[in-house]
Amino acid sequence: MSSRIQQASLVARRRLALQTDEFVFALSAPSGSPAAGPAGSVVGAVAAPPDLRFRPGQFISVRVGTDADQNPILRSYSIASPPERWGELALVLRLLSDGIGSRYFDALRIGESITFTGPMGFFVNELAHSGDVVYIATGTGIAPLLPMIEETLRRSETGRVILFWGLRSEADVFYQDELSALSTRTPRFTHQIYLSQPQSFCRLRGRVTGPVLELLPGLREPTFYLCGNGQMIEELKAGLVARGVSRKRQIRTEAFFD
Ligand SMILES: Cc1cc2nc3c(=O)[nH]c(=O)nc-3n(C[C@H](O)[C@H](O)[C@H](O)COP(=O)(O)OP(=O)(O)OC[C@H]3O[C@@H](n4cnc5c(N)ncnc54)[C@H](O)[C@@H]3O)c2cc1C
Repeated sequence: MSSRIQQASLVARRRLALQTDEFVFALSAPSGSPAAGPAGSVVGAVAAPPDLRFRPGQFISVRVGTDADQNPILRSYSIASPPERWGELALVLRLLSDGIGSRYFDALRIGESITFTGPMGFFVNELAHSGDVVYIATGTGIAPLLPMIEETLRRSETGRVILFWGLRSEADVFYQDELSALSTRTPRFTHQIYLSQPQSFCRLRGRVTGPVLELLPGLREPTFYLCGNGQMIEELKAGLVARGVSRKRQIRTEAFFD
């Protein structure tokens, strides 16, 4: 974990879905410091962005304002880009109309900088999976899971890799191209999107908890990664543990909010 205060400037922003935007940042070099390129290579006299070493699944803590006593107001955001995108950092945010962090990001203009610490957190892939791997997200909980899934799929493991993603309606869906490309490229990966309040006929309707528990008997030595709203995490964790899954060895969680 890094507690060093860092800066990154906004280079791109794109709408992914309803109230959901991707923000891409270029890491800034600390003023006056020499900079190194990938794998320690020298980048000449021009200051280059520093490397931010992180594992897929980790998050950063962003300063989104100051309170009345001038203490920083902080919000956590998972890193949505893979570590291989050197010098760059993507975040995927659900922009809440009256959230402090949401308003801060919504007002950010291209070229403006954020101040953050990190990477931090222990919600990362196990170093190896002996069996199947099941990722479960709600909403923007997909942000850390996509780079984690990509990391797992690059390994020479043979287990199935399954993503269950719960969203409210069609307007909330994004990353369709990315997920389809992964499924096509890597047959051991499959994904299913569940909509709790679909606007039209939808085959996969409802919440993710039931389908994951139904799949359990057919899984081989599974590891579960749960990310998103706290209620889904608590319910699913309780259901898995009640069916004999080891909380300590087989379940990893990251709750974005209660
Ligand atoms: C480790 C970690 C990683 C996180 N990563 C992300 C991320 O990648 N993307 C992201 O969008 N958020 C992420 N969050 C949530 C994020 O830190 C903020 O809580 C969220 O963006 C709301 O902050 P705010 O200041 O806008 O609203 P606030 O004023 O703090 O929150 C208003 C209320 O909205 C609810 N809420 C919070 N987040 C959400 C949400 N995503 N969807 C619906 N309701 C919500 C909560 O009940 C909260 O009380 C993460 C949280 C943690 C702890």
